[in-house]
Amino acid sequence: MNSEPQNYCPYPFTQLTTTPTGRWKLCCSSSEAFGAISDFSGEAQPIIRENSPQKFWNGEYLNWVREKHLKREPIKECAACLLYEKNGAESYRQRALKEFGVVSQPLKTPISLDLKLGNKCNAACLFCDPSSSSRVLKEWQDIGWDQQVPFDSGLTGVVNQDLFSVDYDWAESPDFWSELLKASQNLKNLKFTGGEPLINSYMVKYLDHLVENDYAKNIRLQTTTNGIVVPEKFLKILPRFREVQLNFSVDGFGKQNEYIRHPTKWEPWLKNIHRVMNSVPENVELYFQHSISAYSVFGLSDYFRWMWPYKRFRFHLFKVFHPRFQRTELLTVTEKKQVAEQLTQLLLELSTQVTCERDTYLLREIEGIRGFIASEEDWSFMKPQLRSYLQTLDRHRKVSLRDAMPQAADSIGL
Ligand code: SF4
Repeated sequence: MNSEPQNYCPYPFTQLTTTPTGRWKLCCSSSEAFGAISDFSGEAQPIIRENSPQKFWNGEYLNWVREKHLKREPIKECAACLLYEKNGAESYRQRALKEFGVVSQPLKTPISLDLKLGNKCNAACLFCDPSSSSRVLKEWQDIGWDQQVPFDSGLTGVVNQDLFSVDYDWAESPDFWSELLKASQNLKNLKFTGGEPLINSYMVKYLDHLVENDYAKNIRLQTTTNGIVVPEKFLKILPRFREVQLNFSVDGFGKQNEYIRHPTKWEPWLKNIHRVMNSVPENVELYFQHSISAYSVFGLSDYFRWMWPYKRFRFHLFKVFHPRFQRTELLTVTEKKQVAEQLTQLLLELSTQVTCERDTYLLREIEGIRGFIASEEDWSFMKPQLRSYLQTLDRHRKVSLRDAMPQAADSIGL
């Protein structure tokens, strides 16, 4: 990577990104939406309700960013990438360079859209926060956590009282979608996350319009869904796109997934998975997406045993970093050893059943998880925070960690 252009990134020339809170930003890694103050002296005009995609794309702010990048001058918004690189990790910038190369003139309209569609969601997952789920927001208000926020960080950044007064409904406005369509003629990549994108009433209509305008055949569509609702209309339209990647979030087998991704019901969810699997054509790549936390880690072996026969599905595995009190570091040394032993058993069992490349890759990943868990620091002093969080939610939701995940309950002391 030595010959790559320093402080230059193609995203400002190719992509538009939204936050669930209704703002435009450079990419999902850039920090302007979380208060990093730019050196730009004008008005950035990031509010989506007030600034159409075209207006932001052609606006002074983005042109200023582009100029800075072309002059190879670092800007505060892109500090996260520099930090990644300094620590030897691959940054989003470097990934974008691989994908787009050096682009020095912006196109008339973006070729990539990375859209988080507000916070409307039909689930309230344990690691989520009000800016990503309307259901979590309502729950926190009912509990009183909107008055006194008990945590300093959530899935999408700093948790504070401001999160409760944001206009999250901007993606429910027909104007947004019609303006977006006008900016879609050069699209090659289209990514939706949420909230839950498949319950947005305009999203499938927009996909329809992309087909009608003959844009869909050029587009790689990527969507992450909780799989609770999968509209038939959505499935029917997928073959019209160049490529599709559908990610289904799932955080364990059966009761564990129901508990973590409350109020998902396992049987109807599984029915949706089978319906999708049996109906989508080969241009649709299917993924299971699983997060690894201080509680889900105890169910990993059951999860892998369950998903192993679903060969059509590839997989993503994420470690939970935020909120900090849910990280796997909370396990004691003894618990880490227990998990490692369970995974060793699993590896022995599954290694005799390998039938495809995905299986080989999955075994490697399981080995990787076993390695990183064993080597992590001991943050078990944070367990009381996790215990108090789950205790309050269990009471409110009328569920029980012990019923759903006994080994996690032993570890957390609940
Ligand atoms: S340099 Fe990094 S933070 Fe800036 S736009 Fe590119 S990927 Fe995003």
